[in-house]
Amino acid sequence: MTQILDGKAMSSQILARLKNEVNEHLQKGSRAPGLATILLGKDPASAVYVRNKRKRADDVGIKSFEYDLPIQTTQIELLTLIEDLNNRDDIDAILVQLPLPTHIDTSTVICTVNPSKDVDGFHPENIGKLSLGHPRFIPCTPKGCMYLIQASKAKLLGAHAVILGRSNIVGKPMAYMMLNTDATVTICHRNTQNLRQQTKQADILITATGVPHLIGADDVKEGVVVIDVGINKLEDGTLVGDVDFDDVKDKAAAITPVPGGVGPMTISMLLENTVAAYCNHLASRNKHEAYPSL
Ligand code: NAD
Repeated sequence: MTQILDGKAMSSQILARLKNEVNEHLQKGSRAPGLATILLGKDPASAVYVRNKRKRADDVGIKSFEYDLPIQTTQIELLTLIEDLNNRDDIDAILVQLPLPTHIDTSTVICTVNPSKDVDGFHPENIGKLSLGHPRFIPCTPKGCMYLIQASKAKLLGAHAVILGRSNIVGKPMAYMMLNTDATVTICHRNTQNLRQQTKQADILITATGVPHLIGADDVKEGVVVIDVGINKLEDGTLVGDVDFDDVKDKAAAITPVPGGVGPMTISMLLENTVAAYCNHLASRNKHEAYPSL
């Protein structure tokens, strides 16, 4: 029987755990965790993503600091705001919603966020730590994928993980995570030759291409664990993944649906990273208070 990996249910459990964790700190008299979210412009998809993040943050007791800036905001203005948030003690986490307008250099913005508040895990320092096997903040989508893979009970040591897509936010960090768990990793991209030859070898297949229904039953082997990151809108408005779910389902040992698989996990991972940043900041403050003369 194929296991359907229910990201919605798993995400609810994680949010409930985070809420308890935050509550315990509040009861001890600590301040609430603070998450700053910055949105430039009025792109409808980005606005929905940010609204959901703020709402869920609120649900678990994280204080939301909301910056909705006009699209004309200059790079200097944005960097100045981030520097200000970097220096504030009541803000543990900073999220800049991507994509940014073209007059702003995304890489400079990512590098300006204090790595200890970079809960998206995109800062080169955090990606570097992950690649070295000492992660601090792991990018939210691949982190959510790893939770789902673990729920499948798939053996990771020595497994062959095939990842489709090499973006900095999904494919590459996912590859580091799989390597760190002793899987053998193949990364494919739009120029990979004979994709099927690669995907058919996968014990674990993670797809993040943005190509609707790229993968069908003939592209996978029996018993594969399939994690579908893709979110693709068809002309009739239906949301589908990179995987033809109905076609692949019976051949897979476990599979994520779209919607309801990886998507809901991304937000709960953001909040898990935020609570971790908060705990780190509280711990380092307590350390300084315990040794005031040092
Ligand atoms: P991206 O456009 O940055 O990268 C896509 C990658 O797929 C590239 O490396 C490209 O080479 C590869 N690719 C494209 N066509 C391919 C093909 N035919 N065969 C093999 N590889 C191919 O995209 P991204 O930001 O990594 O996002 C990928 C998908 O995941 C999108 O559908 C996006 O909406 C979705 N996504 C979902 C979540 C979530 O929370 N569920 C989060 C991030 C991205």
